[in-house]
Amino acid sequence: MTLGLEQTRALEERYLMRTYKRGAVDFVRGEGALLWDADGNEYLDFLTGISVCSIGHCHPAVVAAVQEQSARLMHVSNLFYTEPMARLAQRLSESSLGGRVFFANSGTEANECAIKIARKHAHGRGIAAPEIVSFEGEFHGRTYGSLSATPGLARNEALGPMLPGFRSVPRNDAAALREAVGERTAAVLIEPIQGEAGVLPTSEEALLAAREACDESGALLILDEIQTGIGRTGSLWAYQQSPIRPDVITSAKALGGGVPIGACITAPVAADVLEPGDHGSTFAGGPVATAAALAVLEVVDDPALLRRVRELGALLREGLEALDGVRETRGRGLMVGVGLEDGIDAAALGAELLQSGLVVNVPVPGTLWLLPPLVVDSAQVEQAVGLIGKAL
Ligand SMILES: *Cc1c(COP(=O)(O)O)cnc(C)c1O
Repeated sequence: MTLGLEQTRALEERYLMRTYKRGAVDFVRGEGALLWDADGNEYLDFLTGISVCSIGHCHPAVVAAVQEQSARLMHVSNLFYTEPMARLAQRLSESSLGGRVFFANSGTEANECAIKIARKHAHGRGIAAPEIVSFEGEFHGRTYGSLSATPGLARNEALGPMLPGFRSVPRNDAAALREAVGERTAAVLIEPIQGEAGVLPTSEEALLAAREACDESGALLILDEIQTGIGRTGSLWAYQQSPIRPDVITSAKALGGGVPIGACITAPVAADVLEPGDHGSTFAGGPVATAAALAVLEVVDDPALLRRVRELGALLREGLEALDGVRETRGRGLMVGVGLEDGIDAAALGAELLQSGLVVNVPVPGTLWLLPPLVVDSAQVEQAVGLIGKAL
């Protein structure tokens, strides 16, 4: 017998720390783009666990990989070799920057690895107090390194002190970025599209300025592709649709298809910075998570699927832009932010949509954040547009 929403909520209120604000639903099952709650109501999921279940809930290939691997060998630690980890590292490197990979268990940890690489690389260049430069509005995670690189959250003095050596400049301000990058700079760490900020694309001009400033100063360019990667924007990595090539990318979220895993992937220039003793993790790169990720890449790393992501993204945005109450849409592929007209309460709209069977997120006032599964079909896209139109 399942508890149901009210009893689950009562347990939560007594025993869980109050760190999350949850929607009033208790999900018990998922398949493809659909979710079901404890009362048997069906929902169309245009959030997919914040772009984690990107190839749909309980994708059969991921379920099979997890079942098979977990019945054979779940964990032996990083003291020994395991094949799925090595094969996944090869696949990630060959599909992107061609260097080496470090596995982690989450996005914030993937960024911690990138921050360590940046600092050690800088020390190797004789920089005593290395600095990492980001844009305002970015989100890089909740552990102290990533948190210190997240300007909005790093201002929370109750959690201070933050790590030293981080600074930010206004979003997309190429001149300010060029100005901020200098002889102390270890890295520029930015998102190709700011996700949590409400799907705000980083301009080509800003990306080019970041690349040039890094080339001139010797700093590393790190792209946080934790949300934009794994096909979300219609290419395996978002940078592949931009004019630049980074030195390091970080991945997590959709990489495991629902199983926690993160990865820090380097170009050859940063591949050998970390040496024995510099970093590690007990769980990371374990056989179950890496087998799941290999199954995910088998599905996503497919030109036909990626083309479909771009087409469906265009269909979704076209439909949304025709609705009364929608001011603009932003993003790329199936990562879509919807800017609402003034006076529309986005939080109330999100709650209303949940009631009517559509799961979305409301990251900031005035914006809906849509991350449908990459395997969504055009009828489901039209259904979502219809539900949003009705709720508006
Ligand atoms: C979600 C996210 C993170 C943090 O990932 P966690 O797995 O929650 O630690 C970091 N950067 C970006 C861009 C994200 O979207």
